[in-house]
Amino acid sequence: MDVVLDRLGRPLRDLRVSVTDRCNFRCRYCMPREEFGKGHNFLPKTEILTYEQIRNFVKACRPLGLKKVRITGGEPLLRQDIHHLVRQLSSMEMDVALTTNGSLLEKNAAKLAESRLSRVTVSLDAIDQEVHSAITDSEVPVADILDGIFAAIRYELGPVKVNCVVQRGVNDHQIPKLVRKFRGTGVIVRFIEFMDVGNTNGWTRGQVVPTSEIIDFLSNEFDLTPLARKSASDVASRWAHSDGTGEIGFISSVTQPFCGDCVRARLSSDGKFFTCLFTTLGHDMSALIRSCRETEELTNTIEEVWSVRKDRYSEKRSSGAISLPRVEMSYIGG
Ligand code: SAM
Ligand code: SF4
Ligand code: SF4
Repeated sequence: MDVVLDRLGRPLRDLRVSVTDRCNFRCRYCMPREEFGKGHNFLPKTEILTYEQIRNFVKACRPLGLKKVRITGGEPLLRQDIHHLVRQLSSMEMDVALTTNGSLLEKNAAKLAESRLSRVTVSLDAIDQEVHSAITDSEVPVADILDGIFAAIRYELGPVKVNCVVQRGVNDHQIPKLVRKFRGTGVIVRFIEFMDVGNTNGWTRGQVVPTSEIIDFLSNEFDLTPLARKSASDVASRWAHSDGTGEIGFISSVTQPFCGDCVRARLSSDGKFFTCLFTTLGHDMSALIRSCRETEELTNTIEEVWSVRKDRYSEKRSSGAISLPRVEMSYIGG
């Protein structure tokens, strides 16, 4: 079967699978406790896809050109024996990565490595404990997350990336501290512009710190030189310390949208397929995923959906053209 292209000529290369909508953090910008507190209805266990079903979905995407799968959530390391899923996917010759808040990484790193996870990305918005606790609305020690990051380095789950979502007035002062902390360790710290995902985080454009501003600011302390992007679909712009002590990156989803190169789809933990992060409704594939013994029918359905895709929300954002309700990041998988 030929690789599937959408209406804008973009292939389906990369799938993000949310394996749970639950999390042990309550990041203010993702799962604020007012919305995701005791009264919140998380998905019932019976609706969550099994590892076998996820594997079949990935298998169905393969003939269409899929190369990479990122396991995410919610917090993926809350899912029991997640390394079993990693093993099933890596044995299909997929490039398998995982994004985690890092709190449970140290104890999982060895099993993830044994199961041939390619890479891990850890979200860490602050080095200072009080700032981290305020953002994540949790008491998890930053030291535990750092232990997780260093365990991932030891188990060669790299290059390990640390993602920091920057919010003006909240954690922008943590930026140089993060750069200093990971310089010379091989970890690539990436600064992400705060996005208007979901409906609960009260996003305003004023909270976004543009990449250009961060680079100007960091240039006062660090001598940084730009590097070429690894591929057109690489979402981060890359910069290196000129003395060879490492690399940092920037994901400028708001100020320099990259929809033209977006080769990414998402699967929610209950089997809905999304062709853009900023969608109102997913394509419900759960019945098909559960019933399918052969993956061909699933492959055809995914192809039908992808081939009519026209999404380019971030490029349209500035015109203010869209104001529909959007799915939450913790559900669709960041
Ligand atoms: N719990 C895991 C974690 O935090 O890494 C995986 C899921 S989380 C939804 C994935 C990523 O989405 C995290 O790096 C998080 O910072 C990012 N994220 C969530 N809301 C965001 C927003 N409004 N703008 C930019 N990034 C966001
Ligand atoms: Fe949980 Fe990740 Fe969302 Fe924070 S960003 S609440 S760690 S899912
Ligand atoms: Fe891809 Fe949608 Fe983000 Fe554009 S807005 S980069 S199409 S996920």
